[in-house]
This record gives sequence, C-alpha cells and structure tokens, in this order.
Amino acid sequence: MTKETKKPLLSKNNHKTIKGEKFGITTYILYMSPFTANSKGINVCSHASKGCAESCLVGSGMGGMYENVRNGRIRKTEYFLSDRTAFLTDLKNEIGKLIEKHTKKGEQVVFRLNGTSDLRYEKFKIFEGKNIFEVYPNVQFYDYTKNWLRFDTELPANYHLTFSRSETNNDKAMEILARGYNVAMVFDNLPETYKGYKVINGDESDLRFKDEKNVIVGLKYKKITGTGGKEKNLAAYASGFVIKTEVDEVINKVAKAYKKAEKSLVVKQK
Ligand code: SF4
Repeated sequence: MTKETKKPLLSKNNHKTIKGEKFGITTYILYMSPFTANSKGINVCSHASKGCAESCLVGSGMGGMYENVRNGRIRKTEYFLSDRTAFLTDLKNEIGKLIEKHTKKGEQVVFRLNGTSDLRYEKFKIFEGKNIFEVYPNVQFYDYTKNWLRFDTELPANYHLTFSRSETNNDKAMEILARGYNVAMVFDNLPETYKGYKVINGDESDLRFKDEKNVIVGLKYKKITGTGGKEKNLAAYASGFVIKTEVDEVINKVAKAYKKAEKSLVVKQK
C-alpha cells in the first residue's frame, strides 16, 4: 500500500454537511470517483442515469474544477477496486477513531459512505462476519441511492436510505414513495406538494435520517458553472433529470383557461 492511500478516506468539509453542525451533528462523507471514472471503467453507481452521471461528474469537481479533489477521489476508488478488504478495514478503523474523538467531546457523529458512489455497503462483511453498520450499531449512517433493489431487503436499523429520482427511474421513484419510503427529487423550484406527496426542503440540511417519513425530499437544481456548464444545464433540463415545476404550472394554467373557455363556449352555443 502506498503512503498516498493512507490519507483519510472520509471528509467533513462540505457546505451541506456543515449545515448539519447547527444541530450539533458532524457528518463525515466518503467521496469516490463516481460512475465509471476510474482506470478499470468499473461502474460504482450501478443504477446511474446519463443525466445524473453527467451532472455528478462535472458538478462534483470531476470536470477539472479542482484537480487535487478529483485525484483524491480517483485514488480512493482505485484503492477500493484493487484491494477491497484493505480499503474496508481502513474505513472501519477510521470510523472507529472518529467516533472515539467526537464521543469524547460529547458530540454526535454520523457517516455517509456513498457521497458520490452507490455501493451496497450492507453487503460487505468486513469484520467477524459483520458489515460496517453492524460493527458500529449505535452510530447513524445514511445515504441516497438510485438502486431500488436495496429497498427489497431489510436494512440495518442504523442505516437510513433515501431513494434518488432521475429521468430514467421515475416509475420506480413513485413506487418507492407508495411503499412509504422517502424519495429525493431535483426541481427547478421547490413546490409544496408534487403528485400528492408533501415536498420538504432537502437543501436545509443533509441529515436525511431526521426527515419525516413518506415525503419527497426536494432539492433545487444547482446550475453547473465553468466550461461546458451551459450545455450540461440544458441537458439536465431537457432530459427530465430536473423536474420543471414552472413549466408544469404554466401548462396547468393554460389547460385550465382552455377548459374554462371551452365550457363558456358550449354554454353560449346552447
Ligand atoms: S448515482 Fe449518484 S453518485 Fe452516482 S453518478 Fe448518479 S448522482 Fe452521482
């Protein structure tokens, strides 16, 4: 193992997780290089859509914004892909140390392992036949996922998952909502309700395990800036990855006005 791979796997300097600190909770996130952005071309986001992968690769710094960030994420992914056991052991030890550090100070610490990946950590037995959640049963973990199959088996009680809608899994998203889970959706502007479900503001904090049950976690689309940003933003809208409530509202208003006009025409003709 190189000295490079001994750098921490988890980080906490993220604008969204910093918001969680006002609740006295520190979140550590593991960021990998998403989708197939690694030397082996292995997909670490099995159910990613074209839209989410594009927006993730560019929006998460993979588009060349911060080379050191990009390289760090690639390095972690390469480590995971080349020696999963060593990677998971390091992860377990790092989490253990962070729990100890924060507990000593009387602080709560939580973990999000799929910052920019969608791996089934519940499947990886890492110590004495246990997965990471079972190794630390008193610690809260949470993630977003696009893999609807992960809702078919019972998840550890300390692991909260929010399904993440994209332009290609809308039916699955509605199915998962109907089953009582939460689904994150990206909107141009947050509505109060969508398709009969309450929409909460998911941008207020990233602490998804605190959300009420069976709601839509609304996330406002963050426009990508820099090279190619304009094209990517247009693609995110055109593909349906971003739900366009403004356009829907206009269409609904036009449809209502049309119906009203039609009715009055029928009455006049009588
Ligand atoms: S599945 Fe999630 S992490 Fe993977 S590319 Fe899509 S948005 Fe990014």
